[in-house]
Amino acid sequence: MIPAAPIVKACEDRRNYWRILKSLAGQREQVDIATVTAQAKAEFAQSLAAQIMAMVGDGVPAAAGTPALPAPAMVPSAIPVSAPAPEHAKIAASAAGDNGYLAPWIDSSLCTSCNECMNINSKIFAYDADKHAYIKDAKGGPYKDLVRAAEKCTAQVIHPGTPFDPKEKDADKLLKRAAKFN
Ligand code: SF4
Repeated sequence: MIPAAPIVKACEDRRNYWRILKSLAGQREQVDIATVTAQAKAEFAQSLAAQIMAMVGDGVPAAAGTPALPAPAMVPSAIPVSAPAPEHAKIAASAAGDNGYLAPWIDSSLCTSCNECMNINSKIFAYDADKHAYIKDAKGGPYKDLVRAAEKCTAQVIHPGTPFDPKEKDADKLLKRAAKFN
């Protein structure tokens, strides 16, 4: 099955903000692919059954020989197909500081240890014991270095956040460059 683009986007948003929260808590992500896959399949099947039942309820005739489907249960954790933005915005607000500052973060578990970010500024970036990059000191250099590192990152796992110093030279231009990585 091929899920619709809004479903994929909603999943990515939730994943990214879960990673922000874990990164802020100093935890590395541990993903059990089999469990996640099984859960996604089960939720999608329930969602599909609910949609079919809704169509039948609206008077669309079911095909002859179609087996009766059980009444769909409510799925609290089902992925919202429409309007994922409010949830996204709520979590973003909780990750941002009082002044709107959003700290940079890295999907460390996906880092390929290519050294690009270290070459740009080793005061901001460092490797952990597994040679995965993390943000050692977000204020260890200008915001420009965070944006350049995000653009150079071969794994595209650096999220520059927003400038700690909003008065940094060309901050507006840098924010525009950073937008696609946040
Ligand atoms: S540039 Fe990206 S992939 Fe390369 S070391 Fe830094 S975080 Fe890892």
